Amino acid sequence: MEHLLDVRNLKVHFKTYGGEVQAVRGVTFHVDAGETVAVVGESGCGKSVTAQAIMGLIPCPPGRIADGSISFQGVEITKLSKKELLQLRGSGIGMIFQDPMTALNPTMKVGSQLTEGLVHHQGVSREQAHQRAVELLRMVGIPDAEKRVEQYPHEFSGGMRQRVVIAIALACNPKLVIADEPTTALDVTVQAQILDLLKELQATTNMSIIMITHDLGVVAEIAHRAVVMYAGIVVESGPVKAIFAEPKHPYTWGLLRSMPRLDSNEKEPLIPINGTPPDLFHPPQGCPFADRCDYAMEICERQMPAPTSFADGHQAACWLHDSRAPRIEELIASGR
Ligand code: SF4
Ligand code: MG
Repeated sequence: MEHLLDVRNLKVHFKTYGGEVQAVRGVTFHVDAGETVAVVGESGCGKSVTAQAIMGLIPCPPGRIADGSISFQGVEITKLSKKELLQLRGSGIGMIFQDPMTALNPTMKVGSQLTEGLVHHQGVSREQAHQRAVELLRMVGIPDAEKRVEQYPHEFSGGMRQRVVIAIALACNPKLVIADEPTTALDVTVQAQILDLLKELQATTNMSIIMITHDLGVVAEIAHRAVVMYAGIVVESGPVKAIFAEPKHPYTWGLLRSMPRLDSNEKEPLIPINGTPPDLFHPPQGCPFADRCDYAMEICERQMPAPTSFADGHQAACWLHDSRAPRIEELIASGR
């Protein structure tokens, strides 16, 4: 079956005064209808750049898609004209940004911002647009929608503003919504409400969601599958349950150890991952995690590991899973 979105071997580079940065270095994953896929990693791992490429938002120059393909409903996004990309963003793919205050125009009534796209791209009348704006605010759980469409963003709380941003993304009934850290700027209670809202909306519309996040709590809460990125590559991907229960990559082990858990003994220490990611001006030829990995072997520095497949589409790119590698238990027992 054809996937809704298919990203294959995507490479995105940026020219800077210091040289060319290889921000995304061969990323492959897919999204099916009605599912939520989380793209997880630390800042600078290439997750937001991947999202921008899917939206056709890589500024060229200084950026360029150096290789690979992005197919959405069978259409190759990397080959679309500016005009076709605008249409795609208006109808096929919606985007939710991190900071609702910068995503909204402070000088424009919320109602007009909600229906700007409809009036421009779909030739809807003002009256129909107003009706739709009210309907959208109701859909995202904003009370007094009739009155609220006439208000400005500063009249809304942070959580309510993020609901407006979600309503804008949904205005044209997108098949796919890309949310880049949509709850990072919100407090924990509001964060949980926004994630619940996204789940509800998904259940009613069957839209797919790509959730870009550094927060494994968000992944556990909302995603069906996860793609773990590190230094511009995918190090592990698969069903969220499998990644939490049986993580296969040392970087994922580190992420899980550094994450606070509600169900664990409070005395269990959180262990940060030591070191820093490699320089993506001159990416290493081998495993990019080798400098920080407790299990690194000689081959790790020399050669990039290929993905190994486990059950249910779970994959990890690590030499430990090569049949010639020493057993992981032996490495752990040897004190590493
Ligand atoms: Fe560690 Fe080697 Fe696996 Fe990379 S390939 S994560 S360095 S064991
Ligand atoms: Mg980012």
